[in-house]
Amino acid sequence: MAIRAEYIWIDGTKPLPYVRSKTKIIDAGTTEFPIWGFDGSSTNQAPGDNSDCVLRPVFSCPDPIRGGDDVLVLADVCLPDGNLTPHPTNTRAACVETYEKYADQEPWFGIEQEYTFFQENRPLGWPIEGYPAPQGPYYCGVGAIEIAGRDIVEDHTQACIDAELNISGTNAEVMLGQWEFQIGPEDPVSVSDHLWVARYLLYRIAENYRVDATLSAKPIKGDWNGAGAHTNFSTRAMREGYDPIIAACEALGAEGKIEEHLAGYGLGSEERLTGLHETQRYDAYNYAVSDRGASVRIPWQVHLEGRGYIEDRRPNANMDPYVVTQLITNTCCEALA
Ligand code: ADP
Ligand code: MN
Ligand code: MN
Ligand code: MN
Repeated sequence: MAIRAEYIWIDGTKPLPYVRSKTKIIDAGTTEFPIWGFDGSSTNQAPGDNSDCVLRPVFSCPDPIRGGDDVLVLADVCLPDGNLTPHPTNTRAACVETYEKYADQEPWFGIEQEYTFFQENRPLGWPIEGYPAPQGPYYCGVGAIEIAGRDIVEDHTQACIDAELNISGTNAEVMLGQWEFQIGPEDPVSVSDHLWVARYLLYRIAENYRVDATLSAKPIKGDWNGAGAHTNFSTRAMREGYDPIIAACEALGAEGKIEEHLAGYGLGSEERLTGLHETQRYDAYNYAVSDRGASVRIPWQVHLEGRGYIEDRRPNANMDPYVVTQLITNTCCEALA
């Protein structure tokens, strides 16, 4: 019998990549998914006269949309050199390397993915002209005036569960039409693989509703919240004591680290990290307990219990989790080693 394997990869479009996918028919019972290829000249990954790029399967899970024995296969992009050399747009390879270097510290990540639904060039639920009522009732809201897009969110959440992704929750956000789901905690590579597949499922399911899900960091200018990807982080030592929690916060604010991290935290930091709307300014750094206006927040339970994790609130919704988790693992684990 034959099944469908949907190969998913990240393209080379600048400044932000698109997710791409295509279907391969394979024998049911295939245990090792085959290497495959695609036309890199159509994805900003190769020139037309040397267009082949290679897909190396790195993660697979049940396909919750097709069901049955069909699968989703996440692949990273490699060069056609016979050695599976990572393509320049492949950010996963460096993440794997950093994770392997610090695996003994057992780094874990939980990522809060915020996003905004759009239809006909405006956020879902917004009037054709003008604005909805100001922010206030939408966050974790209920009711037809407060909420737009819940059917899509429910479908997406169930799909993530059926795909056996480590989704840990969802909520409606501060701006009407804006939502969040959380993935984790998982190691840096797994949380990123799960997040990319969850993003694929979000786009794919919203497609059925003729709705576009965008990861824009500041989809509407003015007095409306932006969209982030708060990144929660711990090592085993941080899960056991408070000194390593403070050491990690200090490491993130060390000379040179603020700029290095911001450069890898996605597009739109200047627009989103203004110091308003539950953010610290992009050019400042601080950490504090319970403070949603800090760059890095120590949750109140963590302060109370003297152990747990920290939340880096700076990453933008459109960030690449392979890059963000690589940066945080490298900076904090180096300091904690
Ligand atoms: P917030 O209060 O900021 O909205 P959320 O509940 O949305 O927080 O997200 C918190 C995330 O942190 C979840 O994905 C959760 O799984 C993750 N998390 C919990 N404990 C840890 C930990 N020890 N290390 C890393 N991430 C963690
Ligand atoms: Mn959250
Ligand atoms: Mn949020
Ligand atoms: Mn948060």
